[in-house]
Amino acid sequence: MLQGGLCFWVPVNSSDSKMEMMASDDDTRDILRPLVFRLHENVPALVREVLLERGWTEFDKKEQDDADWNLYWRNSPFCMTDHRGVKPWQRLNHYPEAIRITRKDFLARHLKRMKGAFGSTLYEFSPVAFIMPKDYVKFVAEYSKERQSGGRSGCYWICKPVDLSRGRGILIFQDIKDLVYDCTVIVQKYISNPLLISGYKLDLRLYVCVTSFCPLTIYTYEEGLVRFATEKFDLESLDNVYAHLTNTSINKYGASYKKYKEGIGCGSKWTFSKFRSYLRIFDVDDVVLWQKINNIVILTLLALTPLPVASNCFELFGFDILIDDKFKPWLLEVNYNPALCLDCSIDDTVKRKLLHDVVELLNYKQIDTLRHNQVAGIKAGRRQVLWSTAGERATKETSSLLNCQKVAKRSSASSAQPALRKVAALTKKTTRAHPRKTLTSQLREKMNTPKISVKAEAENKQPLGIGHSSRESARLCHQLPTPDAFNYKLIPCPYFISDKDQRPIPRVGDFVLIFPFNEAALKASKDGTNIKNIIKEISKLVSKQLPS
Ligand code: ADP
Repeated sequence: MLQGGLCFWVPVNSSDSKMEMMASDDDTRDILRPLVFRLHENVPALVREVLLERGWTEFDKKEQDDADWNLYWRNSPFCMTDHRGVKPWQRLNHYPEAIRITRKDFLARHLKRMKGAFGSTLYEFSPVAFIMPKDYVKFVAEYSKERQSGGRSGCYWICKPVDLSRGRGILIFQDIKDLVYDCTVIVQKYISNPLLISGYKLDLRLYVCVTSFCPLTIYTYEEGLVRFATEKFDLESLDNVYAHLTNTSINKYGASYKKYKEGIGCGSKWTFSKFRSYLRIFDVDDVVLWQKINNIVILTLLALTPLPVASNCFELFGFDILIDDKFKPWLLEVNYNPALCLDCSIDDTVKRKLLHDVVELLNYKQIDTLRHNQVAGIKAGRRQVLWSTAGERATKETSSLLNCQKVAKRSSASSAQPALRKVAALTKKTTRAHPRKTLTSQLREKMNTPKISVKAEAENKQPLGIGHSSRESARLCHQLPTPDAFNYKLIPCPYFISDKDQRPIPRVGDFVLIFPFNEAALKASKDGTNIKNIIKEISKLVSKQLPS
C-alpha cells in the first residue's frame, strides 16, 4: 500500500487525453490526473473538504464520462446495478444491505436471533428490547416480572422510534401507563446505572469501517467521540432530555451546553484519548474495556452476514456504546451515516482525520487515477473523435495487455517477466517524465509528492518474480490497464489486501484491524463466512481476556 499517499498525479500522454481531443491549446497537453470524487446530494460538507484537501477533484457529470470517478459517496444505499457496474478503480461508500443493522428494530431482531443461535453468554451486550406493537404481550410479561422482582418501582425503560435518529421522539418511563407511541418503536431496558463523570452521563461514538463482508474485514478507529449529557444524571427527572440523552443534536440547545461544567469543561464532547487518560488516572484498564468493545463490534457485524457479494465498497458505521458503572459496555445502536457535521473543534479534530484515514484505507494505487479513458468509456459526444485517434491505439494496447495478463496469470516467472516488462514499457509510454508545472500543479505536487513512498513506487515497478502467487499476479494485473478494465469487469482482487503478504493491512492511520484477529478467524471468514467457527474463536478470545 502506498501509505500516506494523499493522491497520485499521473501525467498522461497528450494523445491519450480526451482534453486534447477537445482543445488544441498547448496548455491542456500535459494533464495531471487527480483522483475524482462523486458526491450525492446531502453528503456532509466535510467529505468534500477533506477530498479537496487531498488534491482530489469533484466529478462533473456534464464534462466527464459516467465512470470517470474513483469514489462515490452517498447517504443512501446504492442500487445493485451500481454495485455490479463498479470498476476496478472505483469505491462505493456503502455495502449492499448493510442498512439491515442500522434500524433499531432490525438490529434488535438480528441480535435476538444470534443470541438464540449462539447463546446469551456472548450476546448479552445489548439491552433487552421489544418491537412495538408486535411484541406488546411479551413486553407486558417482562415488565410484570421485573416489577415483581425489583419491587414496586421495577426497572426503567426507554422507548425509541425505530426510524428516527438524533434523540428524536425518545421517551423514558418506569410505569407502563406512561408508555405512548404512534409509530413502530422499540422499548428497551434503560441502563439506569451509567458510568458518570462528575455526575454527567456519557456514551461513546465509535467509528467502524468494514472493507469487506466476505471475507469479513473490520477496522475500528482508535480515536472517537465521548458525548456527554449536559445536565447531571437524575432518575427523579426522567423527562429531562439534557440529563438522560447524550446526543449533541439535543444537548447543543440546552442552557448548560456552552457553560463550563466542572470535570467536563464547556460543550459536550471529549476525544477517546482524553477519556482513556481519565480512566487511567482512576486505574481503570482501558485496554480490557476496548477489547470488550471490539468483541461487541465483531459479534454485531457477524449478525449481518452473509451479505450479497460486492466488490470495491466499504461501510463506515458509527457504533453507540454506553458504559455502565461496572465498566460493562452496552451496544445502543449502529448508525448508517455517522454524523460528519462539525459542531465544535473536537469534531473537527476527530472527523477530519477520520475521513483522511478512511481514504487511506481505500488503498488507491497510481493506476486508479487513469480510470477508463486510458482504454474506454467515452461519452457519446466525443466518442467518434476519440475512437478514430486514441481508440485505435488503445485497442492495440489492450490486446497486447490481454496477452500480458494471460501470461502473468500463469505465474510462471520466466514468461511473466517479459510480459510485465512489456506492460511497464506501455505504461512508461503513457507517462511523461517531467510534467509541465503550473502554479496549481506545483502546489498540488507539494501536497502530495512526499507521501508517495519510494518503496511503494519500486514495488509498482518491480517485475513479477519467482515464487509470486497467482493472487499476486492478479494484483499486479489490477495495477495496470487491463482488458478487464476495458470490459468493465472487476478483477477479484480486494483493494484492502496488503501488497506485502496478501492479508488485510493491520493498521492504517488510526484504523486498527480487529477482524480477522488470528489465522483461524481468517480461515473461517474466507470462502463464505463460517460463523460457527468464528464464534468458537471469539469465545476462546473472550475467555483469555477474562481476568484470572
Ligand atoms: P438515536 O438514534 O435517536 O440517537 P439512540 O438509541 O442512540 O437513538 O439513543 C439516544 C440516546 O439515548 C443515547 O445516546 C443514550 O444517551 C440514550 N439511550 C438510548 N438507549 C439507552 C438505553 N437502553 N439505556 C440508557 N440510555 C440510552
